[in-house]
Amino acid sequence: MNLHEYQGKEILASFGVRIQRGIVAQNSKEAVEAAKKLTEETGTGWHVIKAQVHAGGRGKGGGVKLAKNLKEVEELAGQIIGMNLITPQTSAEGKKVHQVLVAEDVYYPGDSETNEFYMSVLLNRSSGKNMIMYSTEGGMDIEEVAEKTPHLIFTEEIDPATGLLPFQARKIAFNLGLSGAAFKEMARFVASLYKAYVESDSSMFEINPVLKTSDDKIMAVDAKVAIDDNALFRRKEYAEMRDLREENPIEVEAGALGLNYVDLDGNVGCMVNGAGLAMATMDLIKMAGGEPANFLDVGGTADAKRVEEAFRIILQDEAVKAILVNIFGGIVRCDRVANGIVEAYKNMGDAIKVPIIVRLQGTNAELAKEIIDNSGLAVESAVQFQEAADKVKEVLS
Ligand code: GDP
Ligand code: MN
Repeated sequence: MNLHEYQGKEILASFGVRIQRGIVAQNSKEAVEAAKKLTEETGTGWHVIKAQVHAGGRGKGGGVKLAKNLKEVEELAGQIIGMNLITPQTSAEGKKVHQVLVAEDVYYPGDSETNEFYMSVLLNRSSGKNMIMYSTEGGMDIEEVAEKTPHLIFTEEIDPATGLLPFQARKIAFNLGLSGAAFKEMARFVASLYKAYVESDSSMFEINPVLKTSDDKIMAVDAKVAIDDNALFRRKEYAEMRDLREENPIEVEAGALGLNYVDLDGNVGCMVNGAGLAMATMDLIKMAGGEPANFLDVGGTADAKRVEEAFRIILQDEAVKAILVNIFGGIVRCDRVANGIVEAYKNMGDAIKVPIIVRLQGTNAELAKEIIDNSGLAVESAVQFQEAADKVKEVLS
């Protein structure tokens, strides 16, 4: 689950990570109040107004602006809230901005002593260890740094059994070219950042930039935080931070039904039981010349109600030109699934306007095929994987 910058920063601060301070605002009036409060607390009269959307590259898209007085705070907040922010990380339509973070300005103009670094904490799945990726080239597009100057990106692997060792934090500070007070601050920053990552059950932190101020403070100016979905049951305070406005509406609806659905760009909808089979089915669709429109694991109970719910979810995607149902009847017999599909289809009446190919394999597969074939509905049946692929090809051509 992804969080907004202001929420990510709240979590970091709760673990003692120094952050650029800010207050979230829903409208320009609140933004002015926030700016006044920040001035009282920090003494700074300048503020940055930052669009809060689940996408990076906001600066490039005009979603991060500097306000030099309260009038500018009001104006800029008014401009940014409600705008459709288009960044390299959003779709072409962009994302609607509902709120801004009013933050203290932590950059001092013409100050050559400040430095922007990149730092992320994530899991390296191939080594089974956590890792900290970091670079002297912060503030900019890290993908571009990785492409053009990969030697400027360092990684430090951390054994989860021992945790981050003090020498590792010092090594990072050293590789970032720091010395003196800034070196010590960075080592402390890294240690608290890693602790925050582990103890918040996060799956990713990306802090770009990490700023070194001219008075040698190290702080998180931006925060991209993703909490591991599988840990949300024991992190209720984070689960409550979910902002459904930022998520794909079909995925939200599917999630509420307990369907494991991921929206994709293709034209063939798929309904499958089991994540592994779902992935194999997506491969099959590709090999047949199609592109999967979604990943959908309906889980163990493929009864009429569930099948109908799944059909309705898939059909909300207007790009879908055909649906492939690929169900393995192990615990649930294929003939029961077939009856469920027929019943769901009949219940839906005219709602189904695209061809449906059903492949059922497992217990009573042949009987299931008969049920489908004799239903009188516009549903094609298949028992073998290849048959299903051929039929997908046929309906797409
Ligand atoms: P992103 O573009 O979505 O990654 O948003 P960031 O939070 O990283 O902000 C983008 C850029 O805005 C940063 O790289 C900074 O250069 C700039 N920025 C952020 N905070 C401040 C600030 O306090 N003062 C000034 N002058 N610039 C800032
Ligand atoms: Mn950033």
